[in-house]
Amino acid sequence: MSSVVSPIKLRRLNAGDAGFSAELDALLAWEAVANTGVESTVAEIIHAVRSEGDKALLHYTNKFDRRSLDSAAALEISRAEIEAALEQISTAEREALKAAAGRIRAYHDHQRAESWQYCEQDGTVLGQKVTPMERVGVYVPGGKASYPSSVLMNVVPAKVAGVSEIVMVVPAPDGELNPMVLAAAAIAGADRVFTVGGAQAVAALAYGTETIPGVDKIVGPGNIYVAAAKRAVFGKVAIDMIAGPSEILVVCDGKTDPDWIAMDLFSQAEHDEQAQAILVSPDAAFLDAVAASIEKLLPQMSRRDIIAESLAGRGALIEVASMDAAIELVNRIAPEHLELSVAEPEQYLDAIRHAGAIFMGRHTAEALGDYCAGPNHVLPTSGTARFASPLGVYDFQKRSSIINCSPQGASQLGEVASVLARGESLEAHARSAEYRINKPGKGG
Ligand code: NAD
Repeated sequence: MSSVVSPIKLRRLNAGDAGFSAELDALLAWEAVANTGVESTVAEIIHAVRSEGDKALLHYTNKFDRRSLDSAAALEISRAEIEAALEQISTAEREALKAAAGRIRAYHDHQRAESWQYCEQDGTVLGQKVTPMERVGVYVPGGKASYPSSVLMNVVPAKVAGVSEIVMVVPAPDGELNPMVLAAAAIAGADRVFTVGGAQAVAALAYGTETIPGVDKIVGPGNIYVAAAKRAVFGKVAIDMIAGPSEILVVCDGKTDPDWIAMDLFSQAEHDEQAQAILVSPDAAFLDAVAASIEKLLPQMSRRDIIAESLAGRGALIEVASMDAAIELVNRIAPEHLELSVAEPEQYLDAIRHAGAIFMGRHTAEALGDYCAGPNHVLPTSGTARFASPLGVYDFQKRSSIINCSPQGASQLGEVASVLARGESLEAHARSAEYRINKPGKGG
């Protein structure tokens, strides 16, 4: 039932067709590449860094990032160098980073959870104490491109949460580091920066070396070596998530400029060949118009080969019977990014249950959220928006339960606990609770 639109080979589907459901499942299927070669390489690197510390860290950094350092101390960027980066970028770049950081900070300020307490009728006080993590590692990818926006999106929420020390790692292939990455680190408030990457950086953060302090949690995206290493050290430290390729689902009522929609689809497709860009509309003529815009605009794009491969491999234009059917599809796909390019998008918000971030209305391009609107751009991918949330301040705060029993409360709870403990044959539990039961004539 799918037809091919040459020369981009754009997939065109109709949600009313008999085979649609199976075709959609095939389109959405994506597994984190179970590449045993990568996993064994990563296991070897982690073992070496864990047992040999700086020596192994330096060895792998020199090997994979083509560096020739003879001391791990040289991996650290000094505070003066971090601050100096602010002067190495243009005024426009500096102002843009500051504007983005300001918006991201303001948004995340709203997420900070506070401690709370309440008192039961028996005088027992119960509560929850919120504590920031002490030390967090932020992985900033840097093998093939540099990502100052990733610095802001990962460091700012940790800072807002009150994390005491934020350790940033970023590879510097051939010793090169984009000053915008360091400038972003200065603006966001990273405490220490090391030029290491890949599995060796993740291992160093998880286990600590003589130079790199071990952390409690590692966040941030990266390539398959980074993802496999994060998966492997999970348990020793916390991690944020294992991200799949980026995705966008655009729902349009057919009244937005088709060029805008084509470019919004490109904006995800240009990330990499595995990225997924899907357009859903009840207006078949509009889908044709967007296909024409894609043909027209693609040759103008510098990353047109990546975009074409992404759109041909994992993209689709899907016709639905109604906007209700479109929203049903949204919940089934649970996209990382959802653009509701429609009039009055608010009317659909209640019905949308699964999406990482929802971009409301024709003017809200997803790219604005990637950089500077305020919400986090680290979002659940591959349908995980069914159970996961954007990276946020809550990822850097933990909670401790508080129980403060009054004598009356301990006595009443003791009766209950004693019965339950004896039901579990746990004698010491039962007697510990029973000591607190207020019997006539007993003090307390
Ligand atoms: P990277 O920093 O993730 O990886 C570079 C490191 O990989 C190198 O330092 C090296 O240590 C290691 N490596 C490379 N080849 C190796 C090999 N053969 N054996 C062992 N280790 C090896 O940088 P990257 O490669 O540019 O990848 C960045 C990834 O992050 C991309 O997939 C990009 O799409 C993704 N990304 C995602 C987001 C997001 O928000 N989801 C943002 C930015 C980047």
